[in-house]
Amino acid sequence: LMQLSIPLNFIGFVYREIRQGLTDIEQMFDLLDETPEVQDRPGAKPLRVRSGHVQFENVVFAYDPDRPILKGISFEIPAGKTVAIVGPSGAGKSTISRLIFRFYDIQEGAIRIDGQDIRDVTQESLRAAIGIVPQDTVLFNDTIRYNIRYGRPDATDEEVRRAAELAQIGPFIESLPAGYDTLVGERGLKLSGGEKQRVAIARTILKAPPILILDEATSALDTHTEQEIQAALDLVSRDRTTLVIAHRLSTVIGADEIIVLRDGRIAERGTHRTLLAARGLYAEMWNRQREASRAEERLRRAQEED
Ligand code: ADP
Ligand code: MG
Repeated sequence: LMQLSIPLNFIGFVYREIRQGLTDIEQMFDLLDETPEVQDRPGAKPLRVRSGHVQFENVVFAYDPDRPILKGISFEIPAGKTVAIVGPSGAGKSTISRLIFRFYDIQEGAIRIDGQDIRDVTQESLRAAIGIVPQDTVLFNDTIRYNIRYGRPDATDEEVRRAAELAQIGPFIESLPAGYDTLVGERGLKLSGGEKQRVAIARTILKAPPILILDEATSALDTHTEQEIQAALDLVSRDRTTLVIAHRLSTVIGADEIIVLRDGRIAERGTHRTLLAARGLYAEMWNRQREASRAEERLRRAQEED
């Protein structure tokens, strides 16, 4: 099944799916003339999230049977902790986040949340328990208030305002003539990548999901904006089970565990400190990125002198 690869940015797809609920995914599969790969099993019960412990046990997965993507992956995210996944592009990092949402079923092994196999629970309850801050945030053509409140439609104006403050976008919104009533998107104010990102973070702060996935959430931003947003992300992920998929290693230094994925296997794992000491793939990636950011800094200074 599903030999054809879905012609859409999948994270965008995941994200829209969360926004619009399950009806859309079904419509979309209609559109593709495909039956959904994944269905609730008869009598599936809602997921009961107690502490938000996530477990991958020997997970084997391929989109296409001829081309294995994950070749036996085991890791755990203890409740409230942060695990980071790093590794070369194409290694299978985003695939892991899609599997937590159960967009596909795995071929071997199990994925469990608080001990419940995600194949045994309703997809709706599973997806309600997970929040994602994607790389490219798509906003509605509506007010900023609406866009933030989408995270929890019954939130009060005051709660929306507080979420915006925490996401470090409050002062910017208040500086606009129409404030929270400003229209954004195609027909309104164009927000920068970093501003959109912070609106998405504010939305996630309101949703307050027990499990949070950040998929390269700051990779499109310049270093300065990234640092600001990182502070907001640290705040959302505090005491919340968090999976960080990162391209820039500077964002994973504080993770409780860092997993280095290569060719569908875990090549290395440890903390930032132990991985640097091991002088393996992670240390190599770290040194390369540090060189690159120094070069970027030199370039920026030279431009400022012009
Ligand atoms: P990463 O996030 O580490 O860059 P991904 O998990 O997105 O990598 O992708 C891992 C591999 O799976 C890549 O080779 C990619 O081309 C392939 N892949 C991703 N999505 C699909 C899909 N829907 N169908 C087939 N192959 C896919
Ligand atoms: Mg990816």
